[in-house]
Amino acid sequence: MISIKSSSDLERMRRAGIINAGALEAAKRAVHPGMSTKELDRVIHSFITSHGGKPSFLGYNGFPGSSCISLNDTVIHGIPSADLKIREGDIVSVDVGTYLDGFHADSATTFPVGEISGEAKRLLDSTSESLMLAIGMAAPGVRLGDISHAIQEYNESRGFGVVREYVGHGVGRNLHEEPEVPNFGKPGHGLRLMPGMTIAIEPMITGGGFAVRQLGDGWTVKTRDGSLAAHFEHTIAITKDGSVILTRPE
Ligand code: MG
Ligand code: MG
Repeated sequence: MISIKSSSDLERMRRAGIINAGALEAAKRAVHPGMSTKELDRVIHSFITSHGGKPSFLGYNGFPGSSCISLNDTVIHGIPSADLKIREGDIVSVDVGTYLDGFHADSATTFPVGEISGEAKRLLDSTSESLMLAIGMAAPGVRLGDISHAIQEYNESRGFGVVREYVGHGVGRNLHEEPEVPNFGKPGHGLRLMPGMTIAIEPMITGGGFAVRQLGDGWTVKTRDGSLAAHFEHTIAITKDGSVILTRPE
């Protein structure tokens, strides 16, 4: 069942989205070499709670952090840890959800710490550009397969790998709702978007192959070949003539 949001639902999701965007901005400002991923998680936790929200991820299926912080070859679901220090030259993927007034907003970004390689920069650019391309396509009548295929094509044509095992999703009263929003697919296939749908589009792209492995902690997902990975995500709402980004900064 895909839930259609009313305009007051969307206003509430937008308020959650503004806090979520602020938390990501706060993380970017705070990050520095030598900081642990646990310290960075605390910055995010205090931003969300001091603005009246609840971190959606904290306790979700037992997840112990308020954000997922994934360094370098970690694709997603990195658990914030006091033992994991961020270093100069790392790429840091931060995924955050905010719950406010009955609704969730979910977004992620990957940013560099200091100087990174040209190849790493290309990976970040390709991933974020493919997200913006997908958002630009999202409109009533457009099929999910068209969006999925566009993300896949954009990244694969630049030599990058598109993760298959984890996908975007509907979002609203629940953090994860129907439909699934894969980053690979066939044009002309899948559900047609309708006004009032809210979905999280989230390309997870690697510098090598698409295969991933989950660590024994039950969360952390790394690239199987050790290549770098980037992750960008926005929660968007389908409107009558296109879409709006609910997790854009105010
Ligand atoms: Mg997310
Ligand atoms: Mg998500």
